[in-house]
Amino acid sequence: MKQKPSFPAKVDGLAPKKVHLAKGAAHFTGSAKSSALDPFAALASGVGLDSTKVRESMVQKLAQQGVQDEMLLRAFSCIERHKFIDTALANQAYEDTSLPIGFGQTISKPNVIGRMIELLRQGKNLMITGKLSRVLEIGTGCGYQAAILGQVSKEVYSIERIQGLYEKAKENLRPMRFPNIHLILGDGMLGFAQGAPYAGIISAAGGENIPTAWLDQLAVGGRLVAPISNEQGSQVLVVIDKFENSYKRSFLEPVNFVPLLSGVA
Ligand code: SAH
Repeated sequence: MKQKPSFPAKVDGLAPKKVHLAKGAAHFTGSAKSSALDPFAALASGVGLDSTKVRESMVQKLAQQGVQDEMLLRAFSCIERHKFIDTALANQAYEDTSLPIGFGQTISKPNVIGRMIELLRQGKNLMITGKLSRVLEIGTGCGYQAAILGQVSKEVYSIERIQGLYEKAKENLRPMRFPNIHLILGDGMLGFAQGAPYAGIISAAGGENIPTAWLDQLAVGGRLVAPISNEQGSQVLVVIDKFENSYKRSFLEPVNFVPLLSGVA
């Protein structure tokens, strides 16, 4: 374990602190982007779009769609989704839609992220002052969901198999200086044993089975939320709670996630 320097946190709710970083995880240093280079600021000046207001209306919509977790809704209001997508798509950043992030992948819809994180947090057994203790995310993509998770969890390990997206997520998250988000380039089907056990495991990609490594790395009392393909080839959400000697699986509504693939690309 290496000692990681502390940084001034820029987002409300995250006090600067020293954290230990597991081997293999990236952390965030470097300077914040100048606002003059902020593509959204440039766009906003062109179309008069106010990011705080549009974000608030996205949050209201999420609440109307059923997200009740207040800490989670606060996370959605403070994380700027437009900073995670291409400038050309920034005017769609707060719509309830998935958007391309390159490499054939997409950023998930806010209401799907909201639903999954709310489910994850309803396990409730492994909370510290209202936050999940340690979470593993499979499929970092552009890093948006990792940023949301970082607000409602003590520590987040997020793993991505596509190097270009891993780099993009690092780039996107670096200016935000979250001390508790660790990015890993690797095959998420193997989980990330160095950070285990996890209070929560959440996957943004779906396979035909839940990898054994995820179940092994889930803490007793922890909860896993992931898409899984059924026999007809369509995906549903599965929630798995781990107990001392058993698991409880619940299959929920249909979803549409990119496939969970093995290996690093
Ligand atoms: N949470 C992301 C969504 C990204 S889409 C966001 O907020 O942008 C799902 C991601 O899962 C893709 O980037 C894809 O490359 C990744 N993925 C698929 N299989 C994976 C695996 N075995 N390990 C790690 N990442 C994987």
